[in-house]
Amino acid sequence: MYMVYMSDEEILSASLETNFWTWSAQGKVNPIPVKRADGVYFWDVHGKRYLDFNSMVMCVNIGHGNQRVIEAIANQARELAFAGPGMATRPRAVLGKLLREIVPEGLTHFLYTLGGADANENAIKLARAFTGRSKILTRYRSYHGATHGALALTGDPRRVAWEPYVMPGVVHFLDPYRYRSTFHLNRPEVSEEQFSQDYLNHLEEIIQYEGPHTIAAVLLETVTGTNGVIIPPKGYLEGVRAICDRYGILLICDEVMSGFGRTGRWFAVDHWGVKPDLMTMAKGLTSGYAPLGAVAMRQEIYEFFMDREYVGGLTFNGHPISLAAAAAVIEVMKDEHIVEHAAEMGVVMKEMLEELVERHPSVGEVRSIGLFGVIELVKDRKTREPMAPFNGFSAEMNALRKYILEQGVFLYTHWHTILLLPPLIITPEQLREGFEVIDRALEITDRMVKT
Ligand code: PLP
Repeated sequence: MYMVYMSDEEILSASLETNFWTWSAQGKVNPIPVKRADGVYFWDVHGKRYLDFNSMVMCVNIGHGNQRVIEAIANQARELAFAGPGMATRPRAVLGKLLREIVPEGLTHFLYTLGGADANENAIKLARAFTGRSKILTRYRSYHGATHGALALTGDPRRVAWEPYVMPGVVHFLDPYRYRSTFHLNRPEVSEEQFSQDYLNHLEEIIQYEGPHTIAAVLLETVTGTNGVIIPPKGYLEGVRAICDRYGILLICDEVMSGFGRTGRWFAVDHWGVKPDLMTMAKGLTSGYAPLGAVAMRQEIYEFFMDREYVGGLTFNGHPISLAAAAAVIEVMKDEHIVEHAAEMGVVMKEMLEELVERHPSVGEVRSIGLFGVIELVKDRKTREPMAPFNGFSAEMNALRKYILEQGVFLYTHWHTILLLPPLIITPEQLREGFEVIDRALEITDRMVKT
């Protein structure tokens, strides 16, 4: 082990002494001193067990402690721990082959990055170079990463916090978010197809105002993640694809959270048969066993750079250990039919979510696709007043979160929502275990419902 002796009891205090924590006010951090993990559980240094309903950071799709992946990482480290980004290595060769088999047809080449944010950064550089245009259109209810360019792409308040110091050239549009659709508040009877068409018209109008010839790409999370698991309604994604084609605009799908089996298919786009020009991924690509992101691109985009240099790259792009981890993760997912299992468990989770709607007046709506779910909590089902304000907190949501964690379930709450993204290997019994805790916790928010 290390020359520096550190007992389990010291891990928390010693970490607090030297670390600057991301996404946190330094005086308010309260990290879990985590020690080990296995399957859908992890344990802290005191031996407390947590059921991981967030796959850590929505990434440990194959579950914790997979020995095949750990072996692959160890073997790669022993043979070749590092090679420069310009070198050809065995894991680079193997991963490319594996990825080609699972990504949507037509995506042929892969640029490897360190994570999701820089995958999106590279995707927009590729799109800008390929089209010779500058603007990127993204949606308001989106998160695309925390580097300066990716923050600019992000539509939600995490971007607003850094304005005006973000990359210029991004224009935002509205999401097809039926539960809180401004256009449809008084028109609940509108068909799903018409609903999609209204949002496609909105997008096309913005494209007209901005000038189609100035727009390089539309970039969107295929299924919105932290902003509420917004699942494309019928015809929407196909409609966006058609609009992009009409104006020579590239379609970039951010599958950082929705990819690698999360929705019950390898990639969320597979549900609608839509083929993006560029697709970004990270998180589930290595299931969190090592940092890695990737941009998958169409052959034509690859060929555009045949005689032109692609100006961009980082020292650790294509790190052999990360590539080996990703290759092993994909093999495990295929051998153990994890994507199919996620689809089956998605059906089970949907039923459990629907039970919550019946039992709890504070549940306004539930949505899910595969093992990617959300519970929207409201104070009033009629007005849909959220349990916490937009971009804010409330005592009830804090109490709910605290209770769930105390009961040993680790999950992510966002404003007035609870997100559900367990590891894809979860069993019905383990799902039930988590839902029983959520069921009890919802009594806290039920008490706030206006009668
Ligand atoms: N895109 C989406 C949809 C994400 O959910 C995230 C991270 O949560 C990112 C991009 C950024 O990925 P990373 O944190 O690996 O930079």
